[in-house]
Amino acid sequence: TAEKTEYEFEAEVSKVMDIIINSLYSDKDIFLRELVSNASDACDKKRFIKLTDEASGGFSGRIRIIGDKKSNTLTIEDNGVGMTRKELQTNLGQIGMSGTKKFTEALGQSKDASNLIGKFGVGFYSAFLVADRVTVVTRAEGEPQLRWESESANKYTISPDDSAPIEGSGTRLILSLKEDADKYLDDYTLRSMLKRYSEFISFPIEMWAEKTEYDTVPDPDAEVKEGETPPTKTVPRTTNVWETVNLAKPLWMRDPKDVTDAEYAEFYKTTFKAYDTPAAQAHFSLEGQVEFKAMLFCPSSVPWELSQDMFSDKNKPMKLFVKRVFISDNFESELLPRWLSFLKGMVDSEDLPLNVSRELLQKSRTLSIISKRLVRKAMDMFKDLAKDEAKWVKFQSNFGRYLKVGVIEDTENKEKLLDLVTFSSTLGDKVTSLPDYVSRMPEAQTQIYYLSGASKAAASSSPVLERLKKKGFEVLFALDQIDEIALQGVGKFKVKDKEYDVIDAAKENVDLGEVSEEEKAEAKQAKESLKPVTDFLKGVLGDRVDKVEVSSRLEASPSALVQPQWGMSPQMQRFMRAQAA
Ligand code: ADP
Ligand code: MG
Repeated sequence: TAEKTEYEFEAEVSKVMDIIINSLYSDKDIFLRELVSNASDACDKKRFIKLTDEASGGFSGRIRIIGDKKSNTLTIEDNGVGMTRKELQTNLGQIGMSGTKKFTEALGQSKDASNLIGKFGVGFYSAFLVADRVTVVTRAEGEPQLRWESESANKYTISPDDSAPIEGSGTRLILSLKEDADKYLDDYTLRSMLKRYSEFISFPIEMWAEKTEYDTVPDPDAEVKEGETPPTKTVPRTTNVWETVNLAKPLWMRDPKDVTDAEYAEFYKTTFKAYDTPAAQAHFSLEGQVEFKAMLFCPSSVPWELSQDMFSDKNKPMKLFVKRVFISDNFESELLPRWLSFLKGMVDSEDLPLNVSRELLQKSRTLSIISKRLVRKAMDMFKDLAKDEAKWVKFQSNFGRYLKVGVIEDTENKEKLLDLVTFSSTLGDKVTSLPDYVSRMPEAQTQIYYLSGASKAAASSSPVLERLKKKGFEVLFALDQIDEIALQGVGKFKVKDKEYDVIDAAKENVDLGEVSEEEKAEAKQAKESLKPVTDFLKGVLGDRVDKVEVSSRLEASPSALVQPQWGMSPQMQRFMRAQAA
């Protein structure tokens, strides 16, 4: 009766579909995780809309899975937001959507698709891993029911739909399974996959499962004796029932004592679409005037977005819930200082209003209490990590830079962070913390030295190091701008009631310990006798140098370029130029 319109997929979509199908053929199972997570996202959106709609009387999201052996179809149905015609076109016909988009972006930078593909959510198109026809029956609130259908990587159709009506809004995804994919109709397989992938989905997931019931019936073969109850027998009868496969109880509501590391890891992976096992986690709550529960996870590898850009705005580290309801993952800057944005986590507040906005959050005292507590728990988590050397070394190489940004930007926690940050030094291959550096200082050394350079090799060969090395003084290396800005901003480093100036070794005020009367006289004499040379050099170099002086800090090299006490290092000058450009 009604018209069917044919559309072509965007070229990128066809390409992505090809890649997904060709490189994931051995890992087809993931289609279920992707489709269930889409159903859950749709329910989240619906629940959020219903929050502000007083008359609605709340919303209970639900996801249903039906395997039908007769028609060889697997159906995944949700009562979430559904999609309009326009949304079907943009969400399922173009490459605008997040998971797949991330994947194509990554693909642009790497030639190795099969290696990358495991790292990304590949989204809706993973349906084609197991289905040769995908049908999406959907309805957005107040809109007509529509049918989207595709059998190939080139085109799809959209038409009005008059199959079983969807009540209110929602989506029914029907996969017509490929010949070799009928195992996904098997109850046992389906149940165990759903348990694995969906344990932490916060809506009930119900599967239409076979259930054997036993009926008690009179036994027709048995002899019936006068005056006795007739003998019976039990016969099995197979029916189908809705079986809920997940707890749908948020993990953060449970007592931390009862949660295993494996459960935390699974939660982290499903909630943040991560592929690593967290290096550490914290699960805590606050009661009293401000009440909330929270979890923080420290990844064990650098998340994709952050490997591209340290503060990528594609990174969504924090999820905010209010009374168990997911509100937003866009409030990370209100919840966490920027230097902690490499963490992943969630907060469930009892006090914030459900229709919380950014404006409200920024003024909220509740939030500042929550944020402070998150930072403190994060610091505790790092201190714990530091106890395990192997983990700590890995953490430093992944996220050490963020702690240094903390030193620069978080004045409140600067002191504590200074105990945790590490730098390379003249000592060897390992990095060192400031307290460790201090513990190795010879008695004559009164300051902490650092030297900046574009690489460790470049810094190590600086003539500036000669005198310091001879004295047996260790020098830290600032090998990038963050190192340098952090070290420059330390001023004094306090450890066990003692204070040490942190000094750029390439600057002219470097104090190399006590100088004897004899040395002082020698220096004075050298200065006088070499005055013609220094005057000559200043004359030749003119404005290119501030001044030319006789120095006592060189051993083998005839001269070195140094910065005036308040000047900028060449590295910093390059950095400032790059910023200004
Ligand atoms: P992602 O989930 O990362 O955005 P997907 O490829 O999985 O990427 O999904 C693409 C888009 O299609 C989603 O962002 C959503 O807008 C839409 N979509 C997919 N499944 C559903 C569903 N069950 N209900 C409503 N919208 C959906
Ligand atoms: Mg998705």
